[in-house]
Amino acid sequence: MKTSAPRVMHHLQSGTHLSASPETGLQALLQGILKTITRLPWLHTDAGGVFIANDGEQRLELVAHVNFTPQIQGACTRVAFGRCLCGRVALSGRLLHVDCVDQRHEIRYEGMSDHGHYVVPISDHTGLLGVFVLYVEAGHTYRQAEADALHDFAATMATVIQTTRMRRDKALADLVIENSSHGVMIADRAKRILWVNRAFEQTTGYRLEQVRGKTPRILSSGRHGPDFYRRMWREIEAHGRWQGEIWNRRQSGEIYPEWLNIVALKDEQGRVERYAGIFVDLTEIRRAEEHIHRLAYFDGLTGLPNRAKFSEDLAALLRQAHAQGQQVVVLLLDLDHFHEINDALGRETGDALLREAGTRLAKALKGHLLARIEPDQFLVAIVPGESCPEGALDGAQARAEQILQVLASEFVFDNQVLTLDATIGLAVSKAGDTVETLLSHAALALRQAKQAARGGIGVFDEQLGREVEYDNHIALNIRHAASRGELFLMYQAQVDQQGCLTGAEALLRWQSPGIGLISPGRFIRYAEKRGAIATIGHWVFEQAVKQFSEWRKQPLFEGREFTLSVNLSPAQLISNDVAEMFAETCERYQLSPSLLEIEVIESAIMQVTGQVYAQLEALSALGFRIAIDDFGTGYSSLSRLHEFPIDTFKIDRSFIICLEDGGRHLSVVKSMIAMAHELGHTVIAEGVENERQFNMLRELACDRFQGFWFSKPVTREAFERYAASMWIDGGRA
Ligand code: C2E
Ligand code: CA
Ligand code: CA
Repeated sequence: MKTSAPRVMHHLQSGTHLSASPETGLQALLQGILKTITRLPWLHTDAGGVFIANDGEQRLELVAHVNFTPQIQGACTRVAFGRCLCGRVALSGRLLHVDCVDQRHEIRYEGMSDHGHYVVPISDHTGLLGVFVLYVEAGHTYRQAEADALHDFAATMATVIQTTRMRRDKALADLVIENSSHGVMIADRAKRILWVNRAFEQTTGYRLEQVRGKTPRILSSGRHGPDFYRRMWREIEAHGRWQGEIWNRRQSGEIYPEWLNIVALKDEQGRVERYAGIFVDLTEIRRAEEHIHRLAYFDGLTGLPNRAKFSEDLAALLRQAHAQGQQVVVLLLDLDHFHEINDALGRETGDALLREAGTRLAKALKGHLLARIEPDQFLVAIVPGESCPEGALDGAQARAEQILQVLASEFVFDNQVLTLDATIGLAVSKAGDTVETLLSHAALALRQAKQAARGGIGVFDEQLGREVEYDNHIALNIRHAASRGELFLMYQAQVDQQGCLTGAEALLRWQSPGIGLISPGRFIRYAEKRGAIATIGHWVFEQAVKQFSEWRKQPLFEGREFTLSVNLSPAQLISNDVAEMFAETCERYQLSPSLLEIEVIESAIMQVTGQVYAQLEALSALGFRIAIDDFGTGYSSLSRLHEFPIDTFKIDRSFIICLEDGGRHLSVVKSMIAMAHELGHTVIAEGVENERQFNMLRELACDRFQGFWFSKPVTREAFERYAASMWIDGGRA
C-alpha cells in the first residue's frame, strides 16, 4: 500500500481508462515471444503454444500459438491440470523434455506426426501462471543450455502476464474510485487538491478545475473552530488517519454533514506524499433517520410525541427537576366516551376532532411535555415552578381545570357543534419516583376518577398509593392463603321476630402476615380473578360444615333449630362440581343439607346461564336452602326470580339504612316482603343496626334479622358464648 499508492494517484491524474480487452494485448505479446523462440536456429522448432493457467477451473487455456494446425488447436484449447504432457508440467512446475511422443502423450489427433517436446512452466513468486510447449524434431535430445534459455523466456512471459494483470487491476481500481458513490479527494503534501472524483463534484458542486491547486478550506462551513481542525491534523500526523463527522459547505452555500476519512499516504522514508480524503454525504441518511425518528417517536395523527418519546423526555425532566428540588406533575387525560363520537360521526370526524384537540392542548401547554398515547388519551408533564406559589398540587389542579375547559369549548365540524368531556388523573412526583411509577400513579388516579365520576379530576395521593400496595399484596398472596392456614371463619347471628337466635352466617376472614386482617369484600374479587375462588370456596364450606357438626354434638345446641348460612361466589356456581362437593362434605360430617342455607348474590342469578340454573337446581334438589343475597340491588323482578329454586330473600343493607327516612324506601321494603311472602318465600333483613329498624321490619312482617344490633361477626368461641347467653340465660338482643 505504502509504495503503490502514489503510483495509483499518478495514474488517477492521467485519467487512464480500462482498455477494451486487455487479453488481446497479452496474447499479442506472448505470441511475439513465442515467435522469437521458434525462430531460434539452434533449437530446431517451428511450432509451439502458450497456455495460461486457470486456477479456479484447474486447467490450462491456449492463448497463443505458432504453426498449430487446426487439429492441434482443436485438441489443445483446454487441457486439464495433470492431463497429457502440458497438464503434468502444470502440476509439477518442472520443465519436461521428451525426444519422441509416446503413450504418455494422451492427446492424439488426426495426422499427428512423430515429434518431441519441450514443455516449460511459466511461474513467478506467486506460483504457476501457465506453461509453454515447443515441438522439436523426433530424436532431439535434451540439452542443459537449451533448458536454461527456455527458463529465461518463461520468466519474460511471466513478467508480461503479471504486468498486464496488474495494469488491469489498477485500471479497475481507478474506475471504481472514479465512479464510487463516496466522494474522493487527493491532495499533495501541502494539502493542495490534485484530483477529485465525480461524487466529489456532485456533492460539493465544485468541478475539478475549480478546486485543483486549492486547499480543502474552500469547503469549510464555519461550524468548526480552529481547534477542531488542529486536532484533526495532529491525529493524521500521529496515526496516519482520521475519521469523523464534519460539516462542510457546498458551492451553493448549503451546509451539510459528511462522514470523512482522511488517510496520509507515505513513501518508504515515512514522508507524507499525498492525502486522500474519502467521504459520504450524510444529508440523505440524516433525513431518513429523522423520518424513522418521527415514526418511532411521534403520533401520526396529531404530530404530538408518542408514549416512547414522552417517557424519554419525562425521565430527563424528572432528573432535572429533582436535582433542583422541584416536583413534576403528570396529567393523564382520557376523553370520555370518545368511541361514541367515532361510531356516530365516523372515523374522519373523530380524527379531525382529535387533531383539533391536540392543537388546542399544544397551544395551552406550550413549554410543557405533551403526548398522545392512545387514541383517546393524552399525557402532560409540567414543572409548576415559581409560577405556582400555591404549591405543586394546587397549581396542577388549576392547570387540569384549564385543560378541561379548553376541550369543553365548542368544536365545529361540518355544521356540527361538538364538545369534548374528559377525565384527568393527576400525580405529583416525589424524589426518587421513576417514569413508570409516576405514570402508573396517574393511571390509578384516572381510574379512580372514572369510577367515582366526581368532577373529572382524580389526584393520586398517599391513601390511594397504600390501597394500590394493599391490593397488590392481596392479588399476589390470595392463592396461598388457604394452604398456609391464614383463613378463618367468623359467625354473625341471625334472629327471629322474637329476637331468638335461629342461625348464623359464616363470614370469611384472612389473617395475612404481611398486612393483618383483611375483609372478604376486599379479597374475594382477587380470588375470583386469580382463579383461587374454588379452593377458597371449598375450604369455607368444609370448615363451616365441620364447625356446625361439632356444635350439634354440644349440649348447648341440642334440640335447637339452627341454620348456618354460607356464601357462594358466582364464580363457584359456574364450576361443575359445587353441588356434588357440597353433598359429599355434608355426608362426611353427617349433616343434613336442609340445615344449610347457601347465599348467592342476586346479580349472579340474573346473569342466567344454563349452568347457574342447573347448579342451583341440583343444590336445591339435594335439600340445601337457597338464599338470594343483597336482594334489591340486582334490579330483578320478583316474578322472574320465582322461576328459580329460592327459599329466602335477604334484603340488602342499603334498604335497611334508609328505612328510618320513611317514604319511598319504606314502601319498597314493604312491598318486597309482601311479594316474597305471596310467593311463599321467607325474608331476612341484613344490616339491622338499631332497635328502630328491627321494630319497623317486624311490623312489616320480616321473618328473620341479622345485623350489628344483635351481634357483629365474631369468632367461634365468642359465638358460642353469645349462643349460651341467648339460649341458656334467656337473653335477648
Ligand atoms: P354479605 O354476604 O352481604 O355479608 C354481610 C356483610 O355485612 C359482612 O361483611 C358483615 O360483617 C356486614 N354486616 C353485617 N351486619 C352489619 C351491620 O349491621 N352493619 C354493617 N355496617 N355491616 C354489617 P363482611 O364479613 O366483610 O363480608 C363482606 C362480603 O364478603 C359478604 O357480604 C360476602 O359477599 C363476602 N363474603 C364473606 N364471606 C364469604 C365467603 O365465605 N365466601 C364468599 N364467596 N364470599 C364471602
Ligand atoms: Ca351473605
Ligand atoms: Ca348481603
